[in-house]
Amino acid sequence: MFNFIKAPFAMLICLALATGMAPISARALPYPESTSSDQSVIAEAKPMTLGELRRKYSETFKFNGPEVKQIALTFDDVPDPRFTPKVLDVLKKHGVKATFFVVGSRAKKHPELLRRIHREGHIVGNHSYSHPLFKKKSALEFKNEIERTEKVIVKLIGYKPRFIRPPYGEINEEQLRWAKKQGYKIVNWNVDSLDWKALSKEKVKHNVLSAVGPGSIVLQHAGGGDGSNLTGTIEALPDIIRTLRNRGYHFVTIPDLLHEQKAL
Ligand SMILES: [Zn+2]
Repeated sequence: MFNFIKAPFAMLICLALATGMAPISARALPYPESTSSDQSVIAEAKPMTLGELRRKYSETFKFNGPEVKQIALTFDDVPDPRFTPKVLDVLKKHGVKATFFVVGSRAKKHPELLRRIHREGHIVGNHSYSHPLFKKKSALEFKNEIERTEKVIVKLIGYKPRFIRPPYGEINEEQLRWAKKQGYKIVNWNVDSLDWKALSKEKVKHNVLSAVGPGSIVLQHAGGGDGSNLTGTIEALPDIIRTLRNRGYHFVTIPDLLHEQKAL
């Protein structure tokens, strides 16, 4: 069972965080401000915010690339036979290479679709095995989710992805420290299409085109939970590609944008 269904609360957090969050610096913090007067206790107990983690681990935790006229399109929650083939068709038609963040349990179910993503020249990253909210999990659970997915990916396409995108963009310091030590890069985004909310083509287009800039990493989806509808994403994609090319942008993969190897 895909965990979107089991985690409506997480989706709400995701929605709250994502709303009004472009650029990423405007993103709401995941923890409420403390009202306690005992600051010493709070200082110890309060986890670091994503913004703090981003600054402290800037070499590992990425939200965008260098300020050149390049953009990386990224698609999460793949493979999904309802939507992934259609997204791939559009990218192929327009000669765009993108980065797909794979959920291990789905790749296991739809191996041919993961092979197709790879065969068509796109890059694969790790998006966990069961799509949990990582910041609530231990470092060991995090490691298991990453490694379980890696096994599936390596078996199907032959490499171990360097790039991890945590579900909902959430991760804690212990997990980041482990990822850094292993040589992974954690890749979030600075442009959110919010397309998982089943938005119309026009809304998806607006969310991307009004926020994008040099070095942007754009979050879209090519898979979803039960009942999700990514028609808007698929229909908006040709216009987004054309418009950004007219503005002088080139589409690159995450390893090309960040000047990193795709594999560990
Ligand atoms: Zn996801």
